[in-house]
Amino acid sequence: TIGDNFDRTVQSFGDRDALVDRPKGQRWTYRELAAEVDALALGLLEKGIGKGDRVGIWAPNCAEWTFTQYATAKIGAILVNINPAYRSHELEYVLNQAGIRMLVAAEKFKTSDYAGMIAEVRPRCEALTDVVLLGGADWTALLEAGRRADRARLADVQATLSADDPINIQYTSGTTGFPKGATLSHHNILNNGFFVGELCGYTEADRICIPVPFYHCFGMVMGNLAATSHGACMVIPAPSFEPKATLEAVQAERCTSLYGVPTMFIAELSDPSFESFDLSSLRTGIMAGSPCPVEVMKQVIERMGMAEVSICYGMTETSPVSTQTRADDSIERRVSTVGRVGPHLEVKIVDPETGLTAPRGEPGELCTRGYSVMLGYWEQPDKTAEAIDAARWMHTGDLAVMDDEGYVNITGRIKDMVIRGGENIYPREIEEFLYTHPDILDAQVIGVPDSKYGEELMAWVRMREGAEALTAESLREFCSGKLAHYKIPRYVHVVEEFPMTVTGKVRKVEMRAKSVELLG
Ligand code: ATP
Ligand code: MG
Repeated sequence: TIGDNFDRTVQSFGDRDALVDRPKGQRWTYRELAAEVDALALGLLEKGIGKGDRVGIWAPNCAEWTFTQYATAKIGAILVNINPAYRSHELEYVLNQAGIRMLVAAEKFKTSDYAGMIAEVRPRCEALTDVVLLGGADWTALLEAGRRADRARLADVQATLSADDPINIQYTSGTTGFPKGATLSHHNILNNGFFVGELCGYTEADRICIPVPFYHCFGMVMGNLAATSHGACMVIPAPSFEPKATLEAVQAERCTSLYGVPTMFIAELSDPSFESFDLSSLRTGIMAGSPCPVEVMKQVIERMGMAEVSICYGMTETSPVSTQTRADDSIERRVSTVGRVGPHLEVKIVDPETGLTAPRGEPGELCTRGYSVMLGYWEQPDKTAEAIDAARWMHTGDLAVMDDEGYVNITGRIKDMVIRGGENIYPREIEEFLYTHPDILDAQVIGVPDSKYGEELMAWVRMREGAEALTAESLREFCSGKLAHYKIPRYVHVVEEFPMTVTGKVRKVEMRAKSVELLG
């Protein structure tokens, strides 16, 4: 179980740094971290929380998030990760959908008055019996009760747990619709974190800078679990992503690894103070979560010195990683593919119409099978049955191509594919091309309804500072002769920012709705 694995790391690396919370200015060795985790676990037991009970956590990244992650795992309580950007309506939905009994929450963050929203919805949440605000009197009391409790009780409870028990409900990013709660076991996420760490070559000497949210699998599995299963150190640069704070953390903590979705790396690389930081400690890192532009990967390697950086592909429902590039893959493959299938997993590409495995080089839907596939969507058996077939293959909804040597390329989401006049167009391909434009900082391509062709292409672009706004004509000129005529976007929309999820993904659903309005 996650608790047993954590205890082993504490035994082997007790004196090494485990966690650094930069905004708090505090750090913990593995032995010190274990003391907090065990006190909290015992405090929860004293409160009557036990195996199978749902404990919600609603806070931006902070040390207490990590304490709660491991404390709940030790007693078999199911941790429910709640998106820090939620408002009261969504909070109420999760509290009831997951039947949360105890909610651990920050009091407030930026414009979010968590305590106020909790008070508002609490009368309508029957299962919710306890609310503990981080840093408040209840939190302190919980830890103190735990410190006074009989430690043997924790070991007894831990011994009754099974690795196949559900331990975590993680909601998907909500990129394509309303988030779904993936129910995951110890076995699911601990193995995934461990293998991701293996392929990054983590040891107790590594220090991982984690600016991605803990509430999402990228932070809590690929970050925290990958670190603790190898004795590496977790560094929290800021409660939520800030480019400069991230660069500062890498420099000050001599981080060897840095995580981010592509938009985060773009923000760091284009930060005006970028050149002033010493990032020479960086060896590796992970870029994942959405299509990773080749141009950005190249810059991460050259300008950030992350020679071994890898791209991971996966989804919340598969714990999350299914494919990953390895440090010994050729540079060309490391920047342009999502690598090969991870250890002990299977992936295949199927023709969505026939359900048959597609020939190598042909696009189809990527499916994953193995230890990583979730137990199911929490209390949504119909949705589970749509996603996982009888042979336990998870149908990802992503389009991909696999080459002869097993390297996978994600060509987009089925839902994002554009069909213009009968031609299938993968926006990803056009986005990659637009990144080569010297004035374009970031580009997204979507399909908009068109009476003649069914759909037409529209490019949303963010311009580099000082660059003149792109017009449809100038874009056409830039693409002409380099892209097939039907792949050249008809419309251009210049924006400051794209609509985003908290996990840093571009919400194309929202862009499509807005574009329809714009075209009126
Ligand atoms: P929702 O399912 O709620 O619409 P989501 O699919 O974005 O949101 P996540 O589970 O966070 O929720 O993300 C998984 C998805 O992210 C994958 O299905 C894939 O579309 C995309 N993705 C992840 N990694 C990569 C990658 N390296 N390259 C391209 N796409 C990626
Ligand atoms: Mg999804």
